[in-house]
Amino acid sequence: MLKVENIVKYYNDVAAVDGLSFEVADGEIFGLLGENGAGKTTTFRIIMGLLSANSGSVTLDGKPIDYSVTDQIGFVTEERSLLSKLTVKEQIIFYGILKGMDEDSILKELDYWLQRFDIESYKDRKIKELSKGNQQKIQFISAIIHHPKLLILDEPFTGLDPINVQMLKNAILDLQKQGTAIIFSSHQMEHIEQFCEKLVILVKGKAILNGYLQDIKKSYRKKNILLRGKKIQVEELKSIPGVLSVEKHANEYVIKIDDDKVASKVFQKIRDWDISKFDVTEPTLNEIFIDKVGGRYEK
Ligand code: ATP
Repeated sequence: MLKVENIVKYYNDVAAVDGLSFEVADGEIFGLLGENGAGKTTTFRIIMGLLSANSGSVTLDGKPIDYSVTDQIGFVTEERSLLSKLTVKEQIIFYGILKGMDEDSILKELDYWLQRFDIESYKDRKIKELSKGNQQKIQFISAIIHHPKLLILDEPFTGLDPINVQMLKNAILDLQKQGTAIIFSSHQMEHIEQFCEKLVILVKGKAILNGYLQDIKKSYRKKNILLRGKKIQVEELKSIPGVLSVEKHANEYVIKIDDDKVASKVFQKIRDWDISKFDVTEPTLNEIFIDKVGGRYEK
């Protein structure tokens, strides 16, 4: 279990992280969200023990993060850290030995992962000869070769095509099943939505939302109504107080409302129309994020 308690980090007089707390249990995937400059990388660095906080604490299974626990952490950082002149095999042996593994077990693990990621033929190729996506897979293998208890993934899907994204996602889900605690940052909300039970949204180093995704969505007052039918009168819908917008999507309308009580007013209005679908749904994480963080964020 990772426990982050009230961490504060200043760069000069700017608070990059300002009183952040959260917990990630074993086998849990936790999302750290925020626009550029919100404090994600700073938070990751503090957790990895690469940067010290001005105050607050970080513990893994009750122990402060220092050299005695760093062997239990694996990470894919924003600035990728492969040594381009080494071969894949040399690279992974290098990382594995740093994490205290013997060469035989490193090679066994390496063969498993190269096969799983469909890149066995690259074992003796230099990192610099690999495509960006394949380098990304090697980066991931180097982070998990030692079966870490805690895995930190800063934007792990950058540069991967959809097939490889799925391959990596499946690997992450397997690690979760094996009990790894995983912290994950991504600017793509659908990745977070698909994966993370729990999350924090950071704005200027402060958590403006913190908790289980399901609870966050449920407690969010704004909802969407999905409406399908003949002769939908958009202007009439827009005139209902509490209706924020009405948009036509492929074969249905999405009505955004500012409170779920507005749904019954919409229902009253359309009762006599020829309607084939009326569904009140929770907003997407992307909508919540944009609403909370502001329109500056682009998907
Ligand atoms: P991104 O999504 O762009 O990677 P981030 O959420 O990871 O952003 P951080 O890199 O943690 O954000 O930066 C948080 C704040 O701290 C920003 O205002 C940034 O300018 C500032 N900052 C980060 N590193 C330093 C540093 N070494 N010296 C001074 N300020 C810094």
